Amino acid sequence: MRIGLGYDVHRLAEGVPLVLGGVRIPHFQGLAGWSDADVLTHAVMDALLGAAALGDIGKHFPPGDPELKGISSLVLLERVGVILGEAGYKVGNIDATIVAERPKIAPHVESMRAALSGALGCSPGDIGIQATTSEKLGFIGREEGMAAWAVAAIEKI
Ligand code: MG
Repeated sequence: MRIGLGYDVHRLAEGVPLVLGGVRIPHFQGLAGWSDADVLTHAVMDALLGAAALGDIGKHFPPGDPELKGISSLVLLERVGVILGEAGYKVGNIDATIVAERPKIAPHVESMRAALSGALGCSPGDIGIQATTSEKLGFIGREEGMAAWAVAAIEKI
């Protein structure tokens, strides 16, 4: 078994959708970035790639690549699953925490677990998701951005 860690931050902006863990969440702000800026899915991908020592998402999916403009991060996660499989690994389990001041994340967690596990071909029971606020402190507390942490365990097939 091997373990990886992923971390990501994206800026909040008006006029863009908020997508977390592959789920579109109604909110007056969304996350800005080259892809759909799904900060949770990006942290999960880095945790998986890191567990296999296969680099990071910037290496596999370079920002600025026109093919990736606005792409769903679930599509990228599916590709990460294929990359892991080709390297001889399968997902053991994933645990992730979203840090966001607003909106309430809890009502969407089950949908996120279903979306992420669907993209990876694992069970929703292999994916844990927590959410917390930043107690109004720092850039997250000022609602300028959101962050996500993830750890992943992978196993040799
Ligand atoms: Mg990112």
